[in-house]
Amino acid sequence: MTLDKYINIFLDRDGIVNNVVLRKGVVSSPRSMEEFVFRNDFLSFAQKIDKKYKFFLVTNQPDIKRNLLKENHLKEMHIKLMNILKFEEMFVCMHDDNDNCSCRKPKPGMILDAITRHNLHHDECIMIGDSLKDLKAASAAGIDAFLLDTNYNAYINYSYKIKSLVSLI
Ligand SMILES: [Mg+2]
Ligand SMILES: [Zn+2]
Repeated sequence: MTLDKYINIFLDRDGIVNNVVLRKGVVSSPRSMEEFVFRNDFLSFAQKIDKKYKFFLVTNQPDIKRNLLKENHLKEMHIKLMNILKFEEMFVCMHDDNDNCSCRKPKPGMILDAITRHNLHHDECIMIGDSLKDLKAASAAGIDAFLLDTNYNAYINYSYKIKSLVSLI
């Protein structure tokens, strides 16, 4: 797998940029700065990746709506992230399933917004995520996607799995 034909890279956050947090065996998101730990693979990737690429963050953060994460902590995390890798724009869905918003993945709202607002070509966009929701959102938006291989998503059958972000460079 390679990034050759792409210019715009859409990154999911939890499990791609930072480590997921396991709570009683359930894959979960960081709720404090202490729990927000960058993946080493992401740090190497951010350091080595060619400057020609444009990055967009597309992340579901329902813990905001669930009152499990404070918005100022989320902001703090994303300021920290921006210092590691420059994103053109960060798209965050703070809703939960019942809100029926158009942004929460597997819906394609955040990706489509980015494509419209930044005038992107679909075939130059690639989504990189670790969940079925990421793959479905990409597919619904009409763009390609890579799935990062992890121990918690091994059940997903998908042709475009990558072992690491760095393997793409
Ligand atoms: Mg994820
Ligand atoms: Zn939303």
